[in-house]
Amino acid sequence: MSGDGVGADMSVNDFCRFCHKNLKIQGVISHSTKIFETTGKAKTVFDRLADLGLTLTKSPEKSLRTCQKCTNLLSRIERDLPVFRGWEEEEEEEEKRHADSRDEASPSPTAAHKRQREPAFPPPEEEEETPPMPLKKFCPDPPTPSRTGISVSARRSITKVRPAAAAA
Ligand SMILES: [Zn+2]
Repeated sequence: MSGDGVGADMSVNDFCRFCHKNLKIQGVISHSTKIFETTGKAKTVFDRLADLGLTLTKSPEKSLRTCQKCTNLLSRIERDLPVFRGWEEEEEEEEKRHADSRDEASPSPTAAHKRQREPAFPPPEEEEETPPMPLKKFCPDPPTPSRTGISVSARRSITKVRPAAAAA
């Protein structure tokens, strides 16, 4: 990088791109894989990651190497991801089935009737609010209910008096 001896010793490529582990053991890079170069295998780490949906970019700030541990991890992801994708597909298919059944249920006649009845509820409540006005007009003539009240209580007292009188 800088050109002087000390700076040239340290390079971003001395570390694993993923776990940032120092790959240099006693000054020698070991147990590592070059991400963008094939090592006899058919695919590069770059191609394998691209297949999984991760596209790496070559950058001077990013290492071109990965450690053995991360390469092994990549192999496990490649092995297990199809299983995970299978789970995803199953869930998506179930969701689609549920969505289809919902669409079939909504146009039923009962649902349509319910929708028409629902807006009919608020208007009657508004009509009930207006009657209190005419009720106030009845207030000026309370004598009528009080008279009936008196007559009822008078009749009751009479009926009560009669057995009492009979007893006496
Ligand atoms: Zn690593």
